[in-house]
Amino acid sequence: MNNLLSAFRFAALPAGTNSFRAEVKAFLQSSFEPMPADIRARSWMGFNAAFSKKLAARGWVGVTLPAQYGGASLDAFSRFVLVEELLAAGAPVSAHWIADRQSGPLILKFGTEAQRQFYLPKICAAEAFFCIGMSEPNAGSDLASVGTRATRCQIDGSSGWRLNGRKIWTTNAQHCHYMIALVRSSGEPQDRQKGLSQFIVDLALPGVTMRPIRDLAGDAHFSEVFFDNVLLTDDALIGHEGSGWAQVNAELAFERSGPERVYSSIVLLEHWITCLRKTPAVSVHAATIGRFATHLATLRNMSIAVTAKLVNGESPLVEAALVKDIGTEFEQSIPSVIEAALAMDPDALVDAELYRAVAYVSQMAPTYSLRGGTREILRGMIARGLGLR
Ligand SMILES: Cc1cc2nc3c(=O)[nH]c(=O)nc-3n(C[C@H](O)[C@H](O)[C@H](O)COP(=O)(O)OP(=O)(O)OC[C@H]3O[C@@H](n4cnc5c(N)ncnc54)[C@H](O)[C@@H]3O)c2cc1C
Repeated sequence: MNNLLSAFRFAALPAGTNSFRAEVKAFLQSSFEPMPADIRARSWMGFNAAFSKKLAARGWVGVTLPAQYGGASLDAFSRFVLVEELLAAGAPVSAHWIADRQSGPLILKFGTEAQRQFYLPKICAAEAFFCIGMSEPNAGSDLASVGTRATRCQIDGSSGWRLNGRKIWTTNAQHCHYMIALVRSSGEPQDRQKGLSQFIVDLALPGVTMRPIRDLAGDAHFSEVFFDNVLLTDDALIGHEGSGWAQVNAELAFERSGPERVYSSIVLLEHWITCLRKTPAVSVHAATIGRFATHLATLRNMSIAVTAKLVNGESPLVEAALVKDIGTEFEQSIPSVIEAALAMDPDALVDAELYRAVAYVSQMAPTYSLRGGTREILRGMIARGLGLR
């Protein structure tokens, strides 16, 4: 067997996570009023700062960050359980999501002590929301060719940086306080990975403007962000100048492997099964439901295996790419299979909530295999992991 597949050693969630799961379920049941399935289906995109603050007050934002910075000091297995329960309940998670998953751990790993002390407690209190500034109109998947540029300058007699350029498809930029931007700090786009750095950009600074972009479903959840001579002090740089490429790759392992790459359509699937239970048609679809359950169980196990590697301090980039590729295929298949099932019986009365939920998820599903890295890019990485390229 090749190395990539043998890398997926079976891993189980530790027994201690069972009581944590029960706590999370109880919190979620008491934290929000029952919402219709089409609203719960927006979980990933649901921006609700008040909910994030409530979760933070319970200690569950920045769960993997150390207690000394306001975090819960829990491991990635507990985060897995928390995220699984939040998505299954359809909780609106997107306000604190990126800071909890990526920006906080990135600042902890590569930031200075002053950056940790400034940003991490704000993240854990859900007072600082972050967005990811990687994509650019002329770079996209080819991150190494980013053109947004930081050049050295003097600010009030001290050294700093002047930022110019543009980012696109930045989820929630218009609602966030900070962006972690991957920019060119030396050399030319032809220099590729060399000369890239990550900066924390305060989005309230002069020279930052946003243009929200509407998606297929009519929501404006992402933005184009323009930097016009934005002045950054030296402490905006994360890690070393020129080490942005390695840092971004470490960050992508956090981004690609979790339950969020498997559960995007789960509220729809669960609501379909709830509706079917009330009709004789349930037996007609038993095999389809069984297939979904089998795929979900397998993907969940693979995702837990990747989580186990993160817990061990490894950076399982290729395994995470495999989970994301298969996971998004699973998520995308759910609305199309349910639409086909509904079309099989055009005279049947369709539950209005189910109808709205399937319409919303169908409109969003094409994005699942784009956000966080496109299918073709991931398959290129997997091919390399298998020794085929
Ligand atoms: C819902 C959503 C949220 C997003 N949020 C963010 C965010 O918060 N921050 C952020 O930075 N970005 C975000 N993105 C952007 C996303 O990561 C990019 O769309 C993605 O990386 C692809 O870039 P692109 O759209 O410019 O397409 P391109 O890179 O131009 O690709 C176009 C097509 O060509 C294929 N392709 C490109 N290069 C190759 C290659 N070498 N080999 C084979 N095929 C190739 C791609 O797979 C794709 O099918 C988001 C996107 C979506 C849909």
